[in-house]
Amino acid sequence: MRPTKAVVKLSALRHNLARVRQYAPQAKVLAIVKADAYGHGLLRLLPGLTDADGLGVLRINEALLLREAGYRRPILLLEGVFSADELHTASAHDISIVVHHQQHIAMLQSCNLAKPLSIFLKMNSGMNRLGFVPGEYEQAYLQLKACPAVAEINLMTHFATADDERGIVQQLQVFERATTNISAPISLANSASIIRYPEAHRDWVRPGIMLYGASPVAGTAASSFGLQPVMCFSSEVIAIQTLQAGQGLGYGQQYIAERETRIAVVACGYADGYPRIAPNGTPIGISGQLNQVLGRVSMDMMFADISNLPEVQVGSEVELWGDLVSVDAVAEAAGTVGYELLCAVAPRVKFEVIE
Ligand SMILES: *Cc1c(COP(=O)(O)O)cnc(C)c1O
Repeated sequence: MRPTKAVVKLSALRHNLARVRQYAPQAKVLAIVKADAYGHGLLRLLPGLTDADGLGVLRINEALLLREAGYRRPILLLEGVFSADELHTASAHDISIVVHHQQHIAMLQSCNLAKPLSIFLKMNSGMNRLGFVPGEYEQAYLQLKACPAVAEINLMTHFATADDERGIVQQLQVFERATTNISAPISLANSASIIRYPEAHRDWVRPGIMLYGASPVAGTAASSFGLQPVMCFSSEVIAIQTLQAGQGLGYGQQYIAERETRIAVVACGYADGYPRIAPNGTPIGISGQLNQVLGRVSMDMMFADISNLPEVQVGSEVELWGDLVSVDAVAEAAGTVGYELLCAVAPRVKFEVIE
């Protein structure tokens, strides 16, 4: 069996969920599990999410999978429904929806639902992705309030710069001004705002990345927020090469040895979800020691420097990311964020769940 695998640790997930509670003790927690729980596997993680007050997903089939698995708490569709059919399915299975467009209101007004839906009414307070602009928000609220297909209405917006120095001040002000006449439960905060902006906690917080133990704030380690990595992505050394000075390594000979260099060939490549763009020097763990990726990552294999690790042999263990090498450190070297790497772990990688 090819040794490339991802082990997901439920105790780390529970720990991170408890961290969310410490940051936001008054709020209910809507754990965001879109993108198959950020690449970890939604049903795989479900036993670690029992302490969440609800779950946020993107597609209605994910919500249905959760209901089939016996999940009874609130489930929110983060982009709402994509057709009137889905409204009926949502109603039948008690699935809440985001309402972010006038078309959603029209659908709700003309459907005949068995049971009214809970909704999260989204405002575009500056992200300019989804939601009603501030000037149309109250009107949308009033239309929905009068709509028999709608049960509870929650107010919601999403911050564009919660993770950097610009923060949330401006968007929060926009949101507050546009909702002064409305009294309803509020949901504003993603992971970065949970950590950085207590004033944004309100009734429901929406943690995503922090649950998985990666950092929502570029340049700050997840461990400094007391988070633990849930996924350990690992493989093994399957061959060893010795380069002489001047010899090149792999496709494009992207690395040329300056002196005799011992190289481990690792059974992991971009077809497993490791970023091809990771340059020479990207951190990697070999036999429990921090080391460096060398040469270009190929489809199924990659290389690491083991000149200083004479004990490494074929079969030695390799950590692509996990406890020793954070996914954020790999992401930073590759010019991206931990979110993208976690979501990109390929279906051919064997997953294991441990407590
Ligand atoms: C993905 C998402 C979140 C979670 O964001 P993180 O940065 O992963 O915490 C919260 N709210 C909405 C609307 C989202 O789409």
